Amino acid sequence: MEELPIAEEPQECDCDSCGPRPVDRSDDQAKTSLKLPIYMDYNATTPVDPRVLEAMMPYLTDIFGNAASRSHSFGWAAEAGVEAARKQIADLIGTEPKAIIFTSGATESDNLAIKGVVEMYKDKGNHVITSLAEHKAVIDPCKRLEAHGYEVTWLKSDEYGRVSAEQVADAITDKTVLISIMVANNEIGTVNPMAEIGKVAKEHEVFFHSDATQAIGKIPIDVEAMGVDLLSLSGHKMYGPKGVGALYVRRRGPRVRLTCQMDGGGHERGMRSGTLNVPGIVGMGAAAEIAAKELTSDAERLVKLRTRLEEGIMSRLPQVTLNGHPTERLPNTVNLSFAYVEGEALMMKVKNVAVSSGSACTSASLEPSHVLRSMDVPDDLAHSSIRFSLGRFTTKEEVDYVIEHMVEAVNDLRRLSPLYEMAMEGVDIREVKWKGK
Ligand code: PLP
Repeated sequence: MEELPIAEEPQECDCDSCGPRPVDRSDDQAKTSLKLPIYMDYNATTPVDPRVLEAMMPYLTDIFGNAASRSHSFGWAAEAGVEAARKQIADLIGTEPKAIIFTSGATESDNLAIKGVVEMYKDKGNHVITSLAEHKAVIDPCKRLEAHGYEVTWLKSDEYGRVSAEQVADAITDKTVLISIMVANNEIGTVNPMAEIGKVAKEHEVFFHSDATQAIGKIPIDVEAMGVDLLSLSGHKMYGPKGVGALYVRRRGPRVRLTCQMDGGGHERGMRSGTLNVPGIVGMGAAAEIAAKELTSDAERLVKLRTRLEEGIMSRLPQVTLNGHPTERLPNTVNLSFAYVEGEALMMKVKNVAVSSGSACTSASLEPSHVLRSMDVPDDLAHSSIRFSLGRFTTKEEVDYVIEHMVEAVNDLRRLSPLYEMAMEGVDIREVKWKGK
């Protein structure tokens, strides 16, 4: 794996889109044989698998044609690469290649699915159901719909971040055209009861879209078993390149039609105009094929590492809580709240470990994560949360390094915290009546 560059200035944001903050490897590197920094932010992005890069290389060099050029062999060769990738991705989610539309990533896929369906079926109704724990790539298009007069029902998740089929069923009206509920949450890894929600959607003849960006390649996905009509995918969360994604659009039982959001040359059966990113698409296809073959063994290995990390930290530190479902969770994701410790401060202290915190700098002030809020995690615990997301290249030694350094850093920070001291003396901090309050 390439070494991460060290940025000159600290970045301001640690949200999914912005990636890890700069890391300083100088002091600890001498004390360990591990290569620092350690990357534990695979839900933000994954490195490109070397086998994916190998598959892409010819399409970055000799096979440079435009896949839409029908009149010569340069175009035909590029098109062949695209069609092979379409099949690889279709195979991974249990569908036919023609149901796959290539996009620039999951954000575009989510936008196309949501806006494309409501526009196409505007005569049928104006109501959309989604959840408060969705990624911004779903939340923001739904907010835009609201601003344009559509009605959106925002379902609240339970304490584990799950939305139930009953909640969805209760929210359906005769004006509902779309349900959008993610397969697995990016911050906490909780997996929703997809097949049950899909059944409800089918019974009520409402289209069901799901953002599978975090689930793809980590848990099995079958669009038929899940009863999904539209499914968003991204290349860079599954060891493929950035800037490429896909949208599954059901072709029968029922056929879903979309109003395109990008006008132009009518590529991708008129649903998404724009010259195809052939090397990116080939890379995403190769990543899908590897995922299909290695998903089970990857997941088994990751669950072991995840458990080691979780237990290693929780057995050595008091007042640490797991955010997310204990079992219905992605094999690679652990989100922990370290009471009386600011997540941001913890990340600054353990600079050799790239993780994410539960505070999102969406405004001038630090906002606690909307996902944790939707689960009623108190703001102080949301601010003290850290997401560890492991991946294909994570090792046991890395996990042990992270346990050791996190435990040490939390203990150091708590030693400086008068609130922690009071809590240890048995004071319930939330019940304290502070002077002037
Ligand atoms: N949906 C989820 C659940 C995600 O985690 C992300 C990435 O952070 C996205 C959508 C956006 O994906 P992309 O970066 O491909 O636009």
